[in-house]
Amino acid sequence: MEHNDSIGCVVSECKFHCHDDNYCTLNKIEVIKHESVAKTPECTDCGSFKTT
Ligand code: SF4
Repeated sequence: MEHNDSIGCVVSECKFHCHDDNYCTLNKIEVIKHESVAKTPECTDCGSFKTT
């Protein structure tokens, strides 16, 4: 499966996940935060996630 070498991802539940080697298949993703001020990695997420 073609993937984006610049976006590693282990979210196997996502429609855009490359299961062959844990990458994202999109050309671009949107990284979002769900706190007003992000202080830890847990405050951020992939906003491009879609369920299969
Ligand atoms: S869209 Fe986000 S969650 Fe889905 S495979 Fe790409 S980086 Fe991972």
